Amino acid sequence: MNWLDDMHEELHKLDHEGLRRRLRVVDFLGGMKASIDHKDCVLFCTNNYLGLADHPKVLERANRALVRYGAGAQASRLVSGHFPIHMQLEEITALFKGAEACLAFPTGYMANLAALSAMVGEEDVILCDRLNHASLIDACRISKAKLLIYEHLNLDDLKKLLEKTDKYRRRLIVTDALFSMDGDLVPLLKVTNLAHEFNAEVYVDDAHGTGVLGPGGQGITHHFPLKHFPAVVMGTYSKALGSMGGFVCGPRIFIEYLLNKARTFIYTTGLPPAVCGASLGALEVLQQEPQRVEKLWENAKKIRDGLRMLGYDIPRGAGPIMPIIVGENEEAVKMSEKLLEEGILVVAIRPPTVPKGTARLRLSVSAAHSAADIEKLLIAFKKL
Ligand code: PMP
Repeated sequence: MNWLDDMHEELHKLDHEGLRRRLRVVDFLGGMKASIDHKDCVLFCTNNYLGLADHPKVLERANRALVRYGAGAQASRLVSGHFPIHMQLEEITALFKGAEACLAFPTGYMANLAALSAMVGEEDVILCDRLNHASLIDACRISKAKLLIYEHLNLDDLKKLLEKTDKYRRRLIVTDALFSMDGDLVPLLKVTNLAHEFNAEVYVDDAHGTGVLGPGGQGITHHFPLKHFPAVVMGTYSKALGSMGGFVCGPRIFIEYLLNKARTFIYTTGLPPAVCGASLGALEVLQQEPQRVEKLWENAKKIRDGLRMLGYDIPRGAGPIMPIIVGENEEAVKMSEKLLEEGILVVAIRPPTVPKGTARLRLSVSAAHSAADIEKLLIAFKKL
């Protein structure tokens, strides 16, 4: 059997288990309205939490940078792909997040790989929440540090691990802020206090908290009255800010270290200037219109309350991500297809993205959803 036969068989197995993934074409996109494979629908699955992806100011800033600098950065940042707009983006991001310094990466995934693997190595230990994002898990693996997993949001379990790990040079607690597939929030005040007690450091992935949590959407570190700050906060421009790329915020020395050592920064082309322009535009709109964050939470509450009234069990969590746990893979896919027939796109999330037996519909809300969109969603769920 050659290598393609092996792959064919593996794909066949995925089909059989209801786990085959297929691309769908977005033929049209305007705000939360789309046409997917020629079917009109309202999106309840994007990370465009604040509706900034097509905001006129965002497009205008992107366009200005596009015309001024061209389509791409044309080289890695350390060669000749570092423009004033990169500097400006990093400075404004650091200010927004309340950090000393910031470094931007082409994706959030690359930011996590770089930052985490720079913080720890063979002599260290990582304490990682079981449901952390795949990019964090991969980052933990490539760091070569000893990896210990604690049960999801279980601080007793985390404490037990901290008690057993004092022989390591460094201990790093790694956690998502707002968990992307479960929609629940890390109790960061307790985690940072615990870390302080055990002389451990904290790394937070604020990809879904940026633009969503805290006053003006500044993120998880502004949502809680922290006494001790996480050592490093990572975030993305690709979710609530509607653009593309990831960033790492932390002490200036750390950022300087990344610039010299991080392979996913050094050996890749810089973020396209137009993308930086879009992110800057989004941060500017967010500053001028913080009410977008309030609107997002209002919409999330309306939907959560509405679904609960219909008898759906929406687990803990209060923000814009809502899982509806179905269990079986095929059943989750079937439900998603039925919703699409009603003009609503909520995707089915299956293993390995989520643990086996917990296939679900993952619903995400935006400030850009209208009252009519929400009504349409609730009607569709009523018919399910
Ligand atoms: N962290 C989390 C928690 C995420 O959900 C994602 C994206 N799904 C990433 C990191 C990676 O970000 P990006 O899409 O910008 O690579």
